[in-house]
Amino acid sequence: MAFEGLADRLQNTIQKIKGKGKVTEQDVKEMTREVRLALLEADVNFKVVKDFIKNIKERAVGQEVMESLTPGQQVIKIVKEELTALMGGEESRIAAADRPPTVIMMVGLQGAGKTTTTGKLANLLRKKYNRKPLLVAADVYRPAAIDQLETLGKQLDMPVYSAGTDANPVDIANEALEKAKEEHLDYVLIDTAGRLHIDGDLMDELIQIKNNVSPDEIFLVVDAMTGQDAVNVAESFNEQLDVSGVVLTKLDGDTRGGAALSIKAVTDKPIKFAGMGEKLDQLEVFHPERMASRILGMGDVLSLIEKAQDNVDEKRAKELEEKMRSASFTFDDFLEQMGQVRNMGPLEDLLDMIPGANKMKGLKNVEFDEKQIAHVEAIIQSMTAQERQDPSLLNASRRKRIARGSGRSVSEVNRLIKQFDEMKKMMKQMTNMQQGKKGKKGKK
Ligand code: GDP
Repeated sequence: MAFEGLADRLQNTIQKIKGKGKVTEQDVKEMTREVRLALLEADVNFKVVKDFIKNIKERAVGQEVMESLTPGQQVIKIVKEELTALMGGEESRIAAADRPPTVIMMVGLQGAGKTTTTGKLANLLRKKYNRKPLLVAADVYRPAAIDQLETLGKQLDMPVYSAGTDANPVDIANEALEKAKEEHLDYVLIDTAGRLHIDGDLMDELIQIKNNVSPDEIFLVVDAMTGQDAVNVAESFNEQLDVSGVVLTKLDGDTRGGAALSIKAVTDKPIKFAGMGEKLDQLEVFHPERMASRILGMGDVLSLIEKAQDNVDEKRAKELEEKMRSASFTFDDFLEQMGQVRNMGPLEDLLDMIPGANKMKGLKNVEFDEKQIAHVEAIIQSMTAQERQDPSLLNASRRKRIARGSGRSVSEVNRLIKQFDEMKKMMKQMTNMQQGKKGKKGKK
């Protein structure tokens, strides 16, 4: 998970102050010292840490806390508010031009995830906002970049504008804009060239494109895993191009979080989106408050609900619930339900969104073994359609065949079938109990 170390340390620190009926200056001093260390260890910019601690200190020893009935809670509220402000306060919206198409220029160093993010953003614009984007391949120096964008376009079934490697990037951008107007597409996402390092030629080219197409947004794509380097890159790009927002990629692999916590303060440009994986649907709107809440172990129920709404078909979920109640739930249904939960992302991440879940005994150190889930899926997939509908068919020889087919042991197959039976029994009992209760009420 992103921010793992920081979250652990901050949560320990605030735990100590949480229940205090009186918070002394000494308490605040101790707490801020620990918070300071935690932030530095998370690779947050030194100056940013200094200002952050100063703000917390000022507020925590002020009247706001002293006059409160729950000073401990009050201090935590301050930490959360300051952490939220540090990451940008409100979440920022994506521009929409009065007269479409809205033009977005994607810039960043090679390998930061620019091309992937262009595809992800197009996907999000269509899925969430019902928009029609055009992808534009303006990185003419790396032939593979054009192919990569075209492949993404095919995957997404979206138009891509490219003109080979001989064309001039400024012309490509202008022509793409014309095409979008003609075809009534409402977003133009320009994937520009990247370099390994910032250099004058690259900047000149980007400035030229900017002056020609007057983009509504310039998104700078930076790799969170590069920590403070990402912040330095952001600063240079911003100086030259005055970007409108940052997309922080690979936050899924960034256990420290230094870039996420420093970029807004250093560049004064908001993080608009965060890349949470390689897949095309793994781009999230960056919500500073929700992120602060997750870091402090307070969960993020809103994101959890949104994820469920995006990935779970409500009608199907109701049907499955009904099936469970009537004990007609089959292995096919089980597989489907597991798929829906899996679509929501890694289980560990989901757990972080449940308030207090990380403090629950036993849950804190549970390592969710995604492999285990894949094994269960393999076993069910090795059953015939008939067997999945009617598990009573599963005699010893069939179980052996399934074990062979899925590459798992017979005892694993047996265990799964037993668990499934028990789950069904339990559902039945619960339904009976509920019906019993209803029955009694009815007689009154
Ligand atoms: P570009 O040179 O900036 O266009 O970078 P690419 O789009 O080609 O991405 C470089 C690598 O980073 C690819 O292997 C991507 O799959 C990977 N990548 C991009 N975004 C993410 C992300 O949010 N998480 C993870 N884990 N990998 C990412």
